[in-house]
Amino acid sequence: MQTNILGYPRIGSNRELKKANEAYWAGKISLEKLQLTARQLRRQNWETLHQAGINLIPSNDFSYYDQILDMCIMTGAIPARFKALKENLVNPGSPELYFAMARGYQKNGFDATAMEMTKWFDTNYHYLVPEFDASQHYSLLYNKCLEEFKEAATLGIHTKPVVIGPVSFLLLGKIKDEALQPAALLDKLLPVYNQLLQSLQQAGATWVQIDEPTLVLDLTPEQQDLFLQAYAQMRAAVPALKLLLTTYFGGLQDNTPLAVQLPVDALHIDLVRAPEQLDTILPLLPANVLLSIGVVNGRNIWKNNYEASLGLIQQAIDVIGKDRVLIATSCSLLHTPYDLDLETDEAVLTPQIKNWMAFAKQKVNEVIALRDIIAGNKVLLQANQATMQEKSTAAIIHKPAVKARLAALTDADATRKHPFAIRQQAQEAVLQLPLFPTTTIGSFPQTEDIRKLRADFKKGIISKEAYDTSIRKAVADSVQLQESLRLDVLVHGEFERNDMVEYFGEQLEGFVFTQNGWVQSYGSRCVKPPVIYGDVQRSVPMTVEWSSYAQSLTNKPMKGMLTGPVTILQWSFVRDDQPRAATTLQIALAIRDEVNDLEKAGINVIQVDEPAIREGLPLREADWPSYLEWAVKAFRVAVSGVADTTQIHTHMCYAEFNDIISNIAAMDADVITIETSRSQMELLEVFATFRYPYEIGPGVYDIHSPRVPTVQEMTELLEKAAQLLPARNIWVNPDCGLKTRKWPETEQALRNMVAAAHNMRVAA
Ligand code: GLN
Ligand code: ZN
Repeated sequence: MQTNILGYPRIGSNRELKKANEAYWAGKISLEKLQLTARQLRRQNWETLHQAGINLIPSNDFSYYDQILDMCIMTGAIPARFKALKENLVNPGSPELYFAMARGYQKNGFDATAMEMTKWFDTNYHYLVPEFDASQHYSLLYNKCLEEFKEAATLGIHTKPVVIGPVSFLLLGKIKDEALQPAALLDKLLPVYNQLLQSLQQAGATWVQIDEPTLVLDLTPEQQDLFLQAYAQMRAAVPALKLLLTTYFGGLQDNTPLAVQLPVDALHIDLVRAPEQLDTILPLLPANVLLSIGVVNGRNIWKNNYEASLGLIQQAIDVIGKDRVLIATSCSLLHTPYDLDLETDEAVLTPQIKNWMAFAKQKVNEVIALRDIIAGNKVLLQANQATMQEKSTAAIIHKPAVKARLAALTDADATRKHPFAIRQQAQEAVLQLPLFPTTTIGSFPQTEDIRKLRADFKKGIISKEAYDTSIRKAVADSVQLQESLRLDVLVHGEFERNDMVEYFGEQLEGFVFTQNGWVQSYGSRCVKPPVIYGDVQRSVPMTVEWSSYAQSLTNKPMKGMLTGPVTILQWSFVRDDQPRAATTLQIALAIRDEVNDLEKAGINVIQVDEPAIREGLPLREADWPSYLEWAVKAFRVAVSGVADTTQIHTHMCYAEFNDIISNIAAMDADVITIETSRSQMELLEVFATFRYPYEIGPGVYDIHSPRVPTVQEMTELLEKAAQLLPARNIWVNPDCGLKTRKWPETEQALRNMVAAAHNMRVAA
């Protein structure tokens, strides 16, 4: 049986690409050095897959920054603002244009902002959004795909080039001219695709992988037609080249009839996300088409359950025969870390937990093992069964007390004692805040000193006492500054936190961290997500000490600061042995304990950040209601244990609220703070139309820039807000936390913000 890997991580097992890119951008290494690093990384990947015995080895899955940006350059889909730069480049072969599109360019008289970046489906990877306009002329500007195919060939490795399919490329982009119709745009792009495919056919490629992940989304009939148009044309252009059409991150569902009629040689489906689709697809698959079945999960870090995968593989073999089945990863392995063998510190990752895990390299071996088991190797199966068995009963995963508490959860646990109208009065009486109260979102500038302090403490260079003393000093200074600025609701500043999820993960049971489990987030940015392996529970208070210390320094209300259950889940690797909803509710109970303890310690205002609620939305709209139900419930479970007089805040970063406003309201948070300054308060309109009853803090200044906003512009924004919402409900705050800012601009901006609030009070 044949084996197929859709893509491999490219940052390097020690983040070599990140380091080389950043060194190149800083002018510290030459282009040749950067290219050498890239060649070495590609070679290592190909050799790893080749040595493992994989049949369909990907090429062109490498990228210096992003594979969609690569396609923009390959096809000449260059946004208009970069045209002048392109024409003036001394060396058109240099990556200057490429990196300029990725990162923006402000040099030699040019000034162009970077291309927009957005999340790749429901992953934490971000791609650059193609921009199409009527003035673009598409041509095969640079055939990276062919270059990399040939590069592998010179190493003696025959690869399967991977490209983003024309329809997904188009649908994932933005058409900037209304006059430009998708079908017409596709017509212009297809000759370039055809030329690209022909060049690969000529160079001796056997298979080409064409990624069309948009086939798992809700498509309009017009969008479905684009596929028919594209694949008929490409088929005609390269009759001899084998086309492998891949879909992943979900099931084909209503797009199944479309997918099976496209003239391709193989279809890849994701059986991790949508195992049930095998039943529908098998009988519909044309007799000349192979089926690549993604059974090894490319989205997590857990060992494959062979028995479950073998069931699916056998089912496929029974219907279409061994020769037509390819065993594959569910999607590219881009979303998993490199190599579990690099996790050598048993104090970080115990052998027991490590034995449950598989990173990219191990997942490749799993694909091979599944093939070998089908061929008769029963030893591999037995070893895997033993691990799965041990995991299913391991005491460090399964905690009866947590499960019992979850089972006993009632609606009352997810409901505040009284409705908001009553709570609002109670809170007004206790908090005694002025109209247009001012606050901040939580974090204050994370200076070099603060970062070093945390790092030194982690490394054991300084003692807990020394560390605590220094953090206390930072908290005290920030409280003093906030008082002098006359802010109304203060924060402690989050100086003790490295990251809003990691900080909690490190203190909760059921979480573990890796040494080297990096995955690419975008460009050279990598993240090392916490791993949730078992039942989650809070054994000790996590923030109470810092918040009560901060409260002891002031008579103003001090806002407690927590990360919400959905955000903690979204930004972690999640266990695969129970539904995400169950894991989230366990986290919610742990956060609830912290909320209740903060209240007991005299903290009357508590913010539970949920910036990831919107990004957790499933890919298909039909799945939204059930997700939103448990996501909102988890938030409510976390915050509903408190008295009416305790004010619950939540915070969300830039997001479209139009289609989920009723769910946002259902969170029943007394106050929500959101990012709005760049949209000129337009985001508030939906809150007004919905008659959102709760209090809202629309951000009045952009925290992404060091620029200090004037009193007047913030006053104007607040006046806009006051036209849309009752004055009684409006808070005044920045868009988000201030951790990436410097102190001088922060102080000045907050001073102006307080003045703007003052203007509003005088006018009211
Ligand atoms: N409380 C966090 C902070 O201020 C919120 C961060 C976020 O919304 N991403 O940094
Ligand atoms: Zn935010």
